[in-house]
Amino acid sequence: MLKISGESLMGKLPYGIDPEMVGTVAQQVKDVVATGVEVCLVIGGGNIFRGMSGAAAGMERATGDYMGMLATVMNALAMQNALEQIDVPVRVQSALTISAVCEPYIRRRATRHLEKGRVVIFAAGTGNPFFTTDTAAALRASEMNCQALLKGTRVDGVYSDDPEKNKDAKRFDRVSYMQVLTDDLRVMDASAIALSRENNIPILVFSIETPGEFERVVKHEGRFTIVF
Ligand code: UDP
Repeated sequence: MLKISGESLMGKLPYGIDPEMVGTVAQQVKDVVATGVEVCLVIGGGNIFRGMSGAAAGMERATGDYMGMLATVMNALAMQNALEQIDVPVRVQSALTISAVCEPYIRRRATRHLEKGRVVIFAAGTGNPFFTTDTAAALRASEMNCQALLKGTRVDGVYSDDPEKNKDAKRFDRVSYMQVLTDDLRVMDASAIALSRENNIPILVFSIETPGEFERVVKHEGRFTIVF
């Protein structure tokens, strides 16, 4: 399972989807699929809309969250398009039924797609407000019996503080689920960490912006932090 944030599709744009960046990520996915690994994806929606920011501006939180989930569907369609353009078979399954644009989420059908060598993109998060796409990634990874949850970020692992703001932030090679929770390390939200822990799914945090890094991390090479 590869989880990427909506923001990682922005490239250098301040908002929205940068087709070039989507293409770069799609190529990394293609390279991993070519090695025979089954790949599924969860993409966030923060590049378009977050429920919290809607709520901060006076909107009802649940409504904002549904808008955020719809944003993830747009990102999923952009990624589906980019993968198809480079001949990777792919299906989008949404937790909110939008039958005119993608399949509904059906676990057994998703498993079949993976067996047939198709990439599956899980859109609309968990389908519930008050959750995040990190939790959706941990949930789907658990349901699909994924061997690992790879979180592609802008940095090369987990740090004690934001390395883009604090140059003294310490980088970890390995960190336990418990330490992430107790030290409130910003890897994924607490429910995603708890689900991964319960289901023994290691989380590998790496930079999706480094070309070829997804494949290296899948092979346990490259630079990443493992949460175990
Ligand atoms: N969201 C939600 N339920 C979910 C997943 C997402 O309500 O199961 C909403 C929530 O408003 C969230 C937004 O969708 O802020 C976008 O997802 P997220 O913030 O996880 O995106 P990312 O930070 O990964 O880009």
